[in-house]
Amino acid sequence: MAKRVESPSSINTFKQCTRKYYYQYIAGYPTIPNIHQIRGNVAHTTLEKFYELDAGTLTEENYARLFYGRIQTVFISSWQHYKPQLQGLHLNGDQERFYFEETMLMLMNWAQQLVETVGTAISEKSLSIQDAFQQLTPLREQKFVSDSYSVQGFIDAIHQLKDEVQIIDYKTNASFEFKDEIKLQLAIYSLLYFEKHGTAPSQVGVFFLRHKLKLMDVDEELLALARREIALIHGHTSKTSRIDDYPRRVGPLCKWSTGQCDFFEVCKPFESDAKAKKEAILTEKKVK
Ligand code: SF4
Repeated sequence: MAKRVESPSSINTFKQCTRKYYYQYIAGYPTIPNIHQIRGNVAHTTLEKFYELDAGTLTEENYARLFYGRIQTVFISSWQHYKPQLQGLHLNGDQERFYFEETMLMLMNWAQQLVETVGTAISEKSLSIQDAFQQLTPLREQKFVSDSYSVQGFIDAIHQLKDEVQIIDYKTNASFEFKDEIKLQLAIYSLLYFEKHGTAPSQVGVFFLRHKLKLMDVDEELLALARREIALIHGHTSKTSRIDDYPRRVGPLCKWSTGQCDFFEVCKPFESDAKAKKEAILTEKKVK
């Protein structure tokens, strides 16, 4: 079988539960939209478009005010853009207002830290506001595709700082931790960048929008982690697409107090093995 094209998300899904990977990436069952994904998309769109502001209008006196105004304007327009998807979630007015305000606060937090970073660049490097803004403007939403690794990914922001490169992902997560799946995602981005440019980025990290930027150094160990996990998934998925070869991993990610796995109904993780087996055979027939 040909190698599938994987991504940090598909690889992390495979590690989480191989049956979930099967439903989403082999059977192609649709995932169920949720507020966390949609507001994540809104936040990413806002941060991408924020930098399109006219730098010629910035002065040292007005840039903070213009940054705060800009992030709010772009956020409101991005929220409107995603309105059809938001309406599909059937949130009540209070719920939608809560997520709108919470996301706005996260983006204002990000803008405040940009204001501080630009201020530091102006005072410590004696840059004009235009030069400081230009130097701190990243490459955004860059797609990286590796034919040799058969992996692709979108990198939110790439900052070129003198001789150093930083790769940044934006997250709306409550936690401020580099959990294993985040570390693997960043490792894969580092590898993709390394393959394309012949040199690894100096640092990779996450701007946790509720908190702040968190970075880690890129070293050979991080690149080796990405290579190892990519090899592992291809070693499995290029050999078989039979549902039985993608066992369920029943646990807390099947169902929790406020939600459940997108494939809970078809997977029936808490039914007996015999019933699950029957379900698996029926599902496989449908997929074929
Ligand atoms: S319900 Fe549980 S076992 Fe089934 S696919 Fe989802 S995570 Fe895996």
